[in-house]
Amino acid sequence: MPKINVLPKNVAELIAAGEVVERPASVIKELVENSIDAGANIITVEIKNGGISYIRITDNGCGISNGDVPLAFLRHATSKIKVDNDLNSISTLGFRGEALAAVSSVSKVEMLTLYDNEEIGTHYVIEGGQEIEYEEIGCPKGTTIIIRDLFYNTPARMKFLKKDVSEANACAAVIDRIALSHPEISFKFIRDGKQTLNTSGDGKTKSAVYSVLGREFSNSLIDVLGEQNGITVSGLTCKPVLCRPTRNNQFTFLNGRLVRSGTIIAAVEQAYKNSAMIGKFPSFVLYVNVPFDTVDVNVHPAKTEVRFSDEKRIFEAVYQAVKSALSSGDTRPEIKLSAPTPAFNPFERMTTEQFRQTVIKTEEPKTAPNPPVYEHKQPTPQRLSFEASQKPTFADTYSFVGENGQKTEPVYAPKPQVEKIVEIEKEINEIIDEKPVIKVIGQAFNTYIIAQMGDSIFMIDKHAAHERILFNKLKSEHKIEVQALLTPITANLQKDEYNAIIDNLDLLLKAGFEIDDFGTSTVAVRAVPTTLIGENIQSLLSEMAESLIKTKSVQVEREENLFHTVACKAAIKAGSATTTLEMQSLAEKVLLTKEILYCPHGRPVAYEIKKRELEKQFGRIQ
Ligand code: ADP
Ligand code: MG
Repeated sequence: MPKINVLPKNVAELIAAGEVVERPASVIKELVENSIDAGANIITVEIKNGGISYIRITDNGCGISNGDVPLAFLRHATSKIKVDNDLNSISTLGFRGEALAAVSSVSKVEMLTLYDNEEIGTHYVIEGGQEIEYEEIGCPKGTTIIIRDLFYNTPARMKFLKKDVSEANACAAVIDRIALSHPEISFKFIRDGKQTLNTSGDGKTKSAVYSVLGREFSNSLIDVLGEQNGITVSGLTCKPVLCRPTRNNQFTFLNGRLVRSGTIIAAVEQAYKNSAMIGKFPSFVLYVNVPFDTVDVNVHPAKTEVRFSDEKRIFEAVYQAVKSALSSGDTRPEIKLSAPTPAFNPFERMTTEQFRQTVIKTEEPKTAPNPPVYEHKQPTPQRLSFEASQKPTFADTYSFVGENGQKTEPVYAPKPQVEKIVEIEKEINEIIDEKPVIKVIGQAFNTYIIAQMGDSIFMIDKHAAHERILFNKLKSEHKIEVQALLTPITANLQKDEYNAIIDNLDLLLKAGFEIDDFGTSTVAVRAVPTTLIGENIQSLLSEMAESLIKTKSVQVEREENLFHTVACKAAIKAGSATTTLEMQSLAEKVLLTKEILYCPHGRPVAYEIKKRELEKQFGRIQ
């Protein structure tokens, strides 16, 4: 049996530190909670390099008395619990007396503090758990704590840190959450010299939500206020039409502390049932207060899951509060019309997704480093042929399973073939030696260009066509036309949208947007694709951000999705006026470029009607 060793104090301390301090964001959480417990109402957090090289937290709280400073850095040193009975009625945030000990064992800490009842402050420096400096000093009321070189003495842990940007985002998220839970405290967050958050601290939930989540979100919220069985529910929730594809904007504060509770989320979402679209989730900031003895206080400060002694009671209270807020708000449900079913377009019977799947099933790409592009076997646009009976018949037949699960009639479908977009793009730009004459006859419904080329008439969906052309351009890095704005447009965004935008400035530049980071959830747009002049840039930014957020992890998908969004927005709209010149140019691009057959969403771009077929229809030939 090996001999039992008692670990040296510093080793034990390092092991313990690992539990509390995982990354800069967890340091910030602990230290800001200390500031809040100290009664501060102004708290400033500054970080550099994602908090790895530098974190500063300044508060105007009660400070620590000179004699207590070294004690505060000892494990299990806390001013918050004295006897075990206190454990059941904890209302402060931290109480394990571990944070300062943990942080100081894995970094270089400097503290300046002035205790309320003392005249002279304290300057204290502790590195890797070793006291370096302990002296009296003049300083303002409150506490400033600086953490330098986090994990400098634990390289293994250092390796687990992500890129600075990700660490900084995690820090920002922590502060957002804390700021939302304390509207009475003014929070500032400075990230690499740039202030990105400043809450007013005026005590109003709405002000905090406004600063943290952005103006647009805050302006579309409904107040929630309810009380049932000793449980109070207050806060803000969004209109059903503004539900989003992610749950990112769901914040629940239980007795002032941010928690994740499946019960509460389920209750809110239940209240939205039938008024929000399936697959979309409400954004909300809810403050739920319950008697302390009905929650299972999870004593691990890093965890946010909670359990209630009576889950049903909580569910009911939250459900009722949100439901009544929704029924009193302006949330009339919209009437949705069913999709029209045109006579000759076999693809309209399917959703885009069904279409894609059919195509994908037909021929799987073997290796596809780039996302696949589907196209016809023949280089000509889809052909419609008529029989004497007026019913269309098709060369190649496939059956599709319709939305109701039944097979549709057999329809013509193209045999897809997968190629790299780059190769296709090369061909797109191939100049055809002898340009056939293309005569634009006009347009129907301001939507379909009717053009004649050789022995055929073509009907071209101008939006789908333009969208495909722009998308191909973006994809191939042939810069699309960009126009600088005389006055840059500044846009205030929701926090997660803002982060998505500033994390992807390069990609956005590729898409034709020159954007500057203005800090505090604001960006300035300096240039946009020419075709987007006059569009609502703010809503376009949100849309682009949304697409970036959805496809966070996959680079190719993110780029592709962003380009879809931009191409779709920048393309001429169906129903809008188009000049003859524009129609001519579109028709030429579509008809002379073999690959422009489908829009990026998989809808066909053009139909061909052969002269011969018409003549058959009119009985000119047999
Ligand atoms: P805990 O918060 O669990 O008590 P910490 O290690 O985080 O443990 O802090 C130890 C003690 O140091 C606290 O109990 C508190 O008395 C004191 N302290 C820490 N930060 C501050 C601060 N910003 N202002 C005043 N006192 C503080
Ligand atoms: Mg603490």
